[in-house]
Amino acid sequence: MLTDVIDFMVTRGVIISMPRSRDDSATEEMVFEDIPVKIVRKKVKNLRITVHSDCTVRLTIPKGCDPLDLLEQKRDWIFDKIENNRILRERCESRSDKMLLFGREFSMQLDTDLKKGCYIDTATMTIHYASVADFIKFVKKALEDRLGQRICMIASSMGVSGRIGNIRIKKQRSRWASCSHDNNLNFNIRMASLPLKFFDYIIAHELAHIIEKNHSPRFWAIVERHCSNYRICRKHLKEYWVLCNTNVYWKALIEQKKN
Ligand SMILES: [Zn+2]
Repeated sequence: MLTDVIDFMVTRGVIISMPRSRDDSATEEMVFEDIPVKIVRKKVKNLRITVHSDCTVRLTIPKGCDPLDLLEQKRDWIFDKIENNRILRERCESRSDKMLLFGREFSMQLDTDLKKGCYIDTATMTIHYASVADFIKFVKKALEDRLGQRICMIASSMGVSGRIGNIRIKKQRSRWASCSHDNNLNFNIRMASLPLKFFDYIIAHELAHIIEKNHSPRFWAIVERHCSNYRICRKHLKEYWVLCNTNVYWKALIEQKKN
């Protein structure tokens, strides 16, 4: 129930503050799908949307114009811009000593005090690990947990829950995931590098193969029904593939013989 409420709020956007107007313009701040948006209302002929490099959005609109309608109309464009900015920024700022995990960067610390396992210090964004094997186990478990939850939900909404074969995490060389003829699903361990928002597309894609074993227009129509922004996801996944494969920790993790 709580999730429904949050989904509703996230989908429609929530105005979080409305500062007093100054001169003839009025500003509001809101959150739209986790994106901070500043709305400036003034006498303008043309609406303007700006996506800043820090991934905040500014709308300049006339009084009486509904910002939510505009944000929803331009949702894909905004999402696209933000992702491009974020990836570009990450590429510039990313240092080779950072581990990419679920879209965030962590420092890695081999911790000799730890007998086994791993833990994340969120204050310093550091992953402490007892051994590389323990770290890989930790990544796999975290990925399994997140995949498990989303597969369950998406499979049930697609009506394919009873038709899924085995689900495995592998280290495929060239794909994020695959679905075999007998509906076994293989997900790439590299998915643990991705922001969670891309999981639904990858999962919906593979589950759609349970219904359609091809990439026909019928297949893409099923994907679109369950992931309306799949085109944007596909584009960004290509970039993340490169990002992941150039990351020093991911390269080491993939090259590990046993995990
Ligand atoms: Zn496919």
